[in-house]
Amino acid sequence: MLLQGSLTTFRRRCGKPGCRCAEGDPHESPALRFTEDGRTKTLTLTAAEVAEVTAALARYEQARAELDAQAGAGLARLRESRATRRSPR
Ligand SMILES: [Zn+2]
Repeated sequence: MLLQGSLTTFRRRCGKPGCRCAEGDPHESPALRFTEDGRTKTLTLTAAEVAEVTAALARYEQARAELDAQAGAGLARLRESRATRRSPR
C-alpha cells in the first residue's frame, strides 16, 4: 500500500454540553492529511492504523525519490548526448 500526504493531529470540539472538550482540551486523534481533487482533506485514523499509514507514506516518499533520481539521470543523459553530438541510442 502507498499513501501520499502527511500525518497530523486532528483536534475538534464535539459540541456536547458537559463534555470535557467544552472547557478543556479538544479531542485529539491521529489523522492523515492529503490532497484529493485539488482539495485538502483529513481522514482520522485509529491508533492501530497509524503504523500502517506511516509505513505507506514512507513507501510513497521512497518511490518518488527513486523516480526523481531516474528522471535526473535521464536529463543528464539527454544533455550528455547533446554535448557530445552523438546520435541517440
Ligand atoms: Zn467533546
